[in-house]
Amino acid sequence: VNVDVKLGVNKFYVDEGHPHIELVENPDINEFRKLVNACPAGLYKIQDDGSLKFDSAGCLECGTCKMLCGETIIKKWEYPRGTFGVEYRYG
Ligand code: SF4
Repeated sequence: VNVDVKLGVNKFYVDEGHPHIELVENPDINEFRKLVNACPAGLYKIQDDGSLKFDSAGCLECGTCKMLCGETIIKKWEYPRGTFGVEYRYG
């Protein structure tokens, strides 16, 4: 089973309007690119027109982005509030 299929079984509860991860206004492209490559959920994207896209919904709460770029472009990193966030399922 490939990783996308595996990730497909996890459930996400999105806390609309309260993203648990926020980036600085104009992220450095090289820093951002690290996250494009490192985020296991593929949430950091560079679009065809060169614009940067990040959506915290679908985050696996692994902490990789904070570890790599916590002092550069990650402005805020928290675990989702209460009942929100990822619920891991195995199988
Ligand atoms: Fe991606 Fe992990 Fe950062 Fe979530 S915590 S955005 S899954 S790198």
